[in-house]
Amino acid sequence: MVAVAFINPFSEEGRQIVRELGDLNSVYEENGNLIDLVIHSRSQDIADDESIPHNLIELALKRLEWYIRKKNNPDFDYKKYSYLYNPQITRFDVIAFYLLAQAISVKFGPNSRESRAMAECQGKIMESRIGELSIRDKKHLLNTILGSMLVGDVKWTIFADLLSSRKIRLSDLVMDQGSIILDEEEFTESFQDKLENRDPHKMYELLIGDHIKELILNKMIMQKTEDYITEVYKKSQRKVEPNPILLDLADGISEVLSKTYVSYGYHGTADENMEASPFNNDVFPPCVKTVLEGIKSGGRNDAIILFLTPFLSYARLYPDVFRRNITLKISDVDPQLEAVEKEILPLIYEAAERCSPPLFEDQPQEKVNINAKMGFGMHSDIELKHEGETTWYTPMGCEKVKLHLPSLCKPDETCKKIGNPLSYYIRRLNDIKYHKTDLKD
Ligand code: SF4
Repeated sequence: MVAVAFINPFSEEGRQIVRELGDLNSVYEENGNLIDLVIHSRSQDIADDESIPHNLIELALKRLEWYIRKKNNPDFDYKKYSYLYNPQITRFDVIAFYLLAQAISVKFGPNSRESRAMAECQGKIMESRIGELSIRDKKHLLNTILGSMLVGDVKWTIFADLLSSRKIRLSDLVMDQGSIILDEEEFTESFQDKLENRDPHKMYELLIGDHIKELILNKMIMQKTEDYITEVYKKSQRKVEPNPILLDLADGISEVLSKTYVSYGYHGTADENMEASPFNNDVFPPCVKTVLEGIKSGGRNDAIILFLTPFLSYARLYPDVFRRNITLKISDVDPQLEAVEKEILPLIYEAAERCSPPLFEDQPQEKVNINAKMGFGMHSDIELKHEGETTWYTPMGCEKVKLHLPSLCKPDETCKKIGNPLSYYIRRLNDIKYHKTDLKD
């Protein structure tokens, strides 16, 4: 039977593994049992020694590296990380999990991109592992873990944090008088009279079944990971000096994250097609130039919030979103939010100021909507802890602009070759880069 701690490092079993660890210095020692397990894991690629963790610190970093690679490249070589799906790794994996969480807590704290990456990594690892289990093991683990985490009558208010951070939505849950229903018997008892001519079992499988249990478990463990980082961070503030092993690991974590982000991010170098680079206002499309000059007639709010904000944020940070077709958050490409604060928001605010009447003069609350369109929730300040509460809107296509904001569209020659203002911008930037044209073209 698969160990509970393979999915839930916060289980009693998981905590017991950590208590038995003993001397922290051993985490750097070559671990023959770990290596043996890795190389004998099903489908594991053993040709490249680099992909084999030799000690617990290396395993911790590989865990995070797996998540970042998987997130940024759907075609990544998962055979280099097959051991992460092997239930026999549980003992080592739990220690690696706590090492990572503690290193992040003491060096970066909660509300950091490292903390977010850790929680998301845990969510993805759980999801992938559960996906590999047999139906029997999956059912057993879901019921055992949820049974220990949600005891008795579970009121929806228990998920207040998950709901407010939008990790789950109320519409995902089935409730009866404020209590969340997860069990099939309870479901049948509560709703039998409302399920006329319908098979209660089929309805249960459709509305709840393993998929909702898995979703709840996944998000609860992500939340617990964030809470654990906060708790360790608070404790670490009372200590004089954090353990140097954790600080060393934290440096390794930064390296893993920046290795992946640097080729694409704020300080990044050129991607083969398009680099994230400072704005070149000269090659903005006519519609964007119009909004930057300020909207004097109708459509002011939509032009600034729905049109300009997504355009500028993607043009600056993730210009080839449509080619790569991978969903990113702003902090994935601008981890310290420097470009957002120093380049993107100032340009949006200047355009808002040039409108007639100036946007924030009569509707200062619209700043919240600008933050929301960049993925930072409905808040007056942009903070990492709120990122993901809303979606980072992708830029409107030309057809939509023509339909909803027709006064912005004054097409020129380049417009004939593109379907989205962002493509216009990229095309003109590339023209300059490859000297096909000059700015007067
Ligand atoms: S065709 Fe597209 S890019 Fe050109 S002005 Fe109209 S909306 Fe903008």
